[in-house]
Formats: sequence, C-alpha cells, structure tokens
Amino acid sequence: MKEISIYRKHGRQFIKDLRKAEIATPFRGRPVIGMDITKNEAEQAALLCPCGAIQPSPFCLDLGKCEFCGECEFILPGKITFTNDHRLATNTREQLILEPGKDRRIGVDPDKIRKEIRSFFRHSLKLRQVSAGGDNAAEMELNACGNVNFDMGRYGIEFVASPRHADGLVITGPITRNMADALHICYEAIPDPKIVILVGTAAISGGIFHDSPALDRSFLENIPIDLMIPGNPPHPLTFINGILDLTGR
Ligand code: SF4
Repeated sequence: MKEISIYRKHGRQFIKDLRKAEIATPFRGRPVIGMDITKNEAEQAALLCPCGAIQPSPFCLDLGKCEFCGECEFILPGKITFTNDHRLATNTREQLILEPGKDRRIGVDPDKIRKEIRSFFRHSLKLRQVSAGGDNAAEMELNACGNVNFDMGRYGIEFVASPRHADGLVITGPITRNMADALHICYEAIPDPKIVILVGTAAISGGIFHDSPALDRSFLENIPIDLMIPGNPPHPLTFINGILDLTGR
C-alpha cells in the first residue's frame, strides 16, 4: 500500500507529447540578444566569456562554443537573455551564430539532409555513443532520453552496445588524443549508410578545452556531420526533437 501511495504522489511522469513539451523558465535555452547592445558592453561580455563564444565586433554569440554558464546574461541583463527555447539542434553551423536583434528559431535545414537519412532511418535508428573525453554531463542526459519520462524508444530510437548493430555515432566530449583512434575505429565499424551526431558544446567545438594540446579533433575534418546539439549538457528534449527533425518525423 505504501508503494502505491508513493506512485500516486509522484503523479504522471511520462511526457505524452515530446514534440510539444516545454521546459520551465529557469532552464537556459536559446539566447536572444538585444539590438541596443553597445560596443563597450560587447567587449565586456567577450572578455568574460570563458570559451571565446562571444565576438565583440560585429557582435555575435556562437552557440556551438557557448557553455551556457549564464555569465554574459548576468552582467548584461536585458541585453542578453536566455529563453527557455530548447530547440537548438541543427545541421548547419551557421545557425548557431546568433546576432543582435534576430530572434529566430534554430532548426534542421531540410535541404542539407543527406537523402539516405530519411529513407533508411525514419522509423528506426540505433545509435552507438562514444564519450571522447566527456565529463559525463551530456552522457547522463543521453541516458535520461531512454527513461520513463522521455522514452525515446517509442520512436524506435535506441542506444546499442556495439557499433556493428548501430546506424550512427553519437559523440560527446571534446575528443581527446587518447580517444581519437577509438572514435575512428568505432566509426569505421558502423555499416553504411551511417549518421554522425555531435552532442554538447564540447563535441561541437571543444568548448572550454578548444585550445588544449590534449585534444585531437582531426577525425571531424573528413566526415559529414549530420546533426549538432549544443548545450552543456543538452536537454533530452533537445536531443530527441533534433533527431525527429532530422529523420522527418
Ligand atoms: S553563457 Fe555562453 S556566451 Fe555567455 S559567457 Fe557563458 S559561455 Fe560565454
């Protein structure tokens, strides 16, 4: 009886419609930059940013480098505002460069999707995840994608234990030297056609470690990247909705 009353108290945890689900405002999603940001303020924010995500002149904020620490919003309230928009996944790097006064949604560009992705993976997508020097933040959120709340398995999207059983590679972490070969071997072991997804700011740009000599990101130079999911760590809704957009669901 005690267990039943605990379940009742928990209420319904399952999110019925992941496409329409919103996240409460303390969540830091897509930032919006005011038109009235001055040169001094822009320089102040650029100096403060720990990972070079802000370029002062002309002002832009690169979400592919941003660690979502919120410091720029803290020193420039009203000029930089993080909204609760969790739809940050894209297949074009340019969409992650945000400019003042442009409050536009980030999304997947259908013209840039490789043809085979939607024909092969629309109804089922098995993914192999490799943490290439990750800190377990993005990895924990990826684990959460399969829990009772998000249940991405309802769309046929699952993580598998072997690259031989996978349709694609999900990379987290900034790609350290000691993981570079392992990542390459894993990629080669996945049968064609295969997709590659970068999850988290570290995977997209190296993040706070971008200029570290301990990284070897050369692997990314020769393979097509199908989806980038910014965030530190990204929210499960960002990951799942990004894949659904990519595969045309
Ligand atoms: S929130 Fe992003 S852009 Fe702003 S200071 Fe932190 S890392 Fe830099």
